[in-house]
Amino acid sequence: MPWCPNCGIEYTDNYKECPRCHMDLTNEPWETDIELEKAYEEANRNRKRIIRFASLTIALIFTIFVLFNIALFLNILQLIFYQNHGNWLQIKK
Ligand SMILES: [Zn+2]
Repeated sequence: MPWCPNCGIEYTDNYKECPRCHMDLTNEPWETDIELEKAYEEANRNRKRIIRFASLTIALIFTIFVLFNIALFLNILQLIFYQNHGNWLQIKK
């Protein structure tokens, strides 16, 4: 939609110049639209950054959880083995 840079009034597409001040109409986006677009892009960037950080944190916590479970499982295995056969590092007499 073309608009008058002098009056700031928006007109339909069949207008080429402003009927009030006879200035050429422009199709440039409004200053506020550019500001809004910049703000939106900034918010989008921040959201992507937060999502990336959150997924990395979740991946890290999950890895620690898995490693902890493996260690726990090995400890339980060692405990069972110890109860049945004595310390597995000791050479049997
Ligand atoms: Zn005008």
